[in-house]
Amino acid sequence: MSMYETSGKTRRDRFNLASLFAALRSPATSARRPLLSIGRKRYETLLVWGIGLVVAAGIVVISTAAHHRDIAATVIYLTLLLMAANIVSLRVVIGVSLFCMATIVVMFFVDRGYQDWDSLTSFVRCLTALSAIGFLAARAKQASDALRQNDIYMTGAQRLSLTGSVCFSGQNDEMAWSEESARIFEYPPDMPLSRAMILARTPYEDHGLIDEMFARAARREPQIEVAHRLLMADGRIKHIHMIAIPLHDQTDRFEYLGAVMDITEHKQAQETLYRTQAQLTHICRVTTLGELTASIAHEVNQPLTVINSSADACRRWLDRSAPDMHEALGALQRINESARRASDVIDRVRALSRKSDPVRRAEPLNGIVKDTLHVVQHEMSHHGIQARLALSPHDPWVSADRVQLQQVLINLMINACQAMAAVDKGRRILHVSSHVQDDEVILEVADGGPGIDPEVLPALFNPFFTTRASGLGMGLSICRSIIDFHEGRIWAVNTERGASFLFALPLLARGA
Ligand code: ADP
Repeated sequence: MSMYETSGKTRRDRFNLASLFAALRSPATSARRPLLSIGRKRYETLLVWGIGLVVAAGIVVISTAAHHRDIAATVIYLTLLLMAANIVSLRVVIGVSLFCMATIVVMFFVDRGYQDWDSLTSFVRCLTALSAIGFLAARAKQASDALRQNDIYMTGAQRLSLTGSVCFSGQNDEMAWSEESARIFEYPPDMPLSRAMILARTPYEDHGLIDEMFARAARREPQIEVAHRLLMADGRIKHIHMIAIPLHDQTDRFEYLGAVMDITEHKQAQETLYRTQAQLTHICRVTTLGELTASIAHEVNQPLTVINSSADACRRWLDRSAPDMHEALGALQRINESARRASDVIDRVRALSRKSDPVRRAEPLNGIVKDTLHVVQHEMSHHGIQARLALSPHDPWVSADRVQLQQVLINLMINACQAMAAVDKGRRILHVSSHVQDDEVILEVADGGPGIDPEVLPALFNPFFTTRASGLGMGLSICRSIIDFHEGRIWAVNTERGASFLFALPLLARGA
């Protein structure tokens, strides 16, 4: 049995003698004392004695003056009925009932009622009726206390969790809600709720979501979920998440019971986390670019060298007594092409260092891989590493932020280069391959390094996990958050050659 089932059972209000006496005990000693008190504890003892004395005095006066114990019983009935009207606590109800019974018993013996048959039967009748009424009054009181207690717990929990309840149907505009829902929407709690009131608090752009919610209720869908914003009178924006399921009853009515959650703080925390993550991703990207400065400088330098030598050659062809226009034009064309190559490199680096929010659009994965290899090419040849490409002939397209995906590839390729730094030159081969499997494209970066210790494999993508003396341990963690953002998966395995890092991204349908 689960914890919840157990607590549910104890909460059920069962009436028995043990609980009746427990209610009479001091509240401090009662094991089932509620967390939130609903009784009027301070004056209770006084009240028990006060009412008890008044009732006892009434019984004594009536029984001695009128010699009619039925009148005394009537007084007691009335008193107990009044108590059942829920104006006193359970302890008072039980206390007064016992007090009255004790008074009747005392009066019976003082009057020597046992000598007279009529008095004896009247006494028994009176005592039986009194116990029955006392029992019923105490039971009713206990049930209403339990209800009140539940209400307090429920309202408290709704308040603490910023979750209100709402009831609506798809057939008409009738709605009802709890106090907390009214508080979330910032309406007075006793104001009857309507669809117009919800729309009045919803920004115009989100009206469609509310209309859709009612349309789904009209179609009697098994579950309705909607997330929308609220625009308060002072311009504040709140974020609401509502989830509702149908409530079936015996009648024809078809209603939904929903939980309305104010998720504004959660949303703000999520946005802050998202911004911080984006900043960290950017810082790491720029740091990686810093590590690649030599490669980038080399890549820019190459076309600049060609431009220089072509310009010299051009001048020489033109300086001749009979200028060779054909050769000069050829040199000019080489200058043009090299300038374009240098500018391409600079554009790529600038895009990588730019700080902008990630935007996903349709991109060819193979194209991104080839572009990225350009950036790390020099780094690889500097370490004597050869790249082997085996890209999917299907030219898979993905919905991706190009710069972020390049960041993942650069991280994986540089890690692979570092892993192969200590192995024989012949084994320093980086395999980059892609293939389509079902509705995903899988990209693999495999190296010929020492592989990954199986013990650290589960922690590999955790932030700050590193085995390198100068490592920060953020590279793979950032790769994972980028791939998560792309709704993909990333993982690592050991192969017979070394380590292999793979990620899978949802395949984009052609023309999407
Ligand atoms: P860092 O490179 O700063 O250590 P990463 O998050 O990029 O941070 O990598 C975390 C750890 O994963 C590395 O310290 C290393 O132990 C392990 N690792 C990453 N790539 C490889 C690889 N290709 N081969 C073996 N171990 C690797």
